[in-house]
Amino acid sequence: MIDDSIPRAIIQRDKKSYAIVPKIPVGIITPEQLDRISAVAKKYDIPAIKITSGQRIALVGIEEDKLEDIWHELDMPRGQVKPGERSLHYVQACPGIAACKYGVQDAIGMGQEMDKVFSDINLPAKVKVGISGCSFSCGESMVRDIGLLGKKSGWSLVIGGNAARRPRIGDIVAERLSKEQVIALTQRFLDFYGLYGKEKERTARFCERLGLEKIQQAILNENEWLNHSANYEEWDTD
Ligand code: SF4
Repeated sequence: MIDDSIPRAIIQRDKKSYAIVPKIPVGIITPEQLDRISAVAKKYDIPAIKITSGQRIALVGIEEDKLEDIWHELDMPRGQVKPGERSLHYVQACPGIAACKYGVQDAIGMGQEMDKVFSDINLPAKVKVGISGCSFSCGESMVRDIGLLGKKSGWSLVIGGNAARRPRIGDIVAERLSKEQVIALTQRFLDFYGLYGKEKERTARFCERLGLEKIQQAILNENEWLNHSANYEEWDTD
């Protein structure tokens, strides 16, 4: 159950306490941020600290009258937390070339860029992004609204995946993309989704309703920037 009257907090089962989830793009956190999380947890006697599936840290069991003070002392961006929020929910990423021996692309850097560019966009429903530095897909790219798979030849862009009640494996819309092409093509897809998506319709249902062919036609063929940046033939989808 969500209490919409409390900004950036989720009411818990006890109907009295709240959870908050600071924004931690791609799960990268500094020692100073960890210190502040630890300090507020001790000071306010927060009963649980939970690592979420989206690579974030939830502070759980907070009394309502402590929420603002805790946010202030954390000094971290307030993450999207409510199921009904219609925007970028989070960007998760695997270590990619920063640490993993299998990595062929910079998943963390790509994820940070995606978070920066798309964090304020308004959408029909929430959007989750999963980025993987290679085809093993540890960043859960095939079951996120927007997914990226790193390959030696560039990025593969996946849309319409979902891991929830009605799971869906996403569709690969283009391959061999540069970082700039990923950003531009994602923007194009999100613009298209923003225009034609129904209220609260997740990308999985949107892609099922319209079909991959129509979406590819709209976002690959009919945009000006494509003519300047690449040939369609180079973005094969097989
Ligand atoms: S997806 Fe590839 S690069 Fe990323 S953690 Fe898994 S094996 Fe490593």
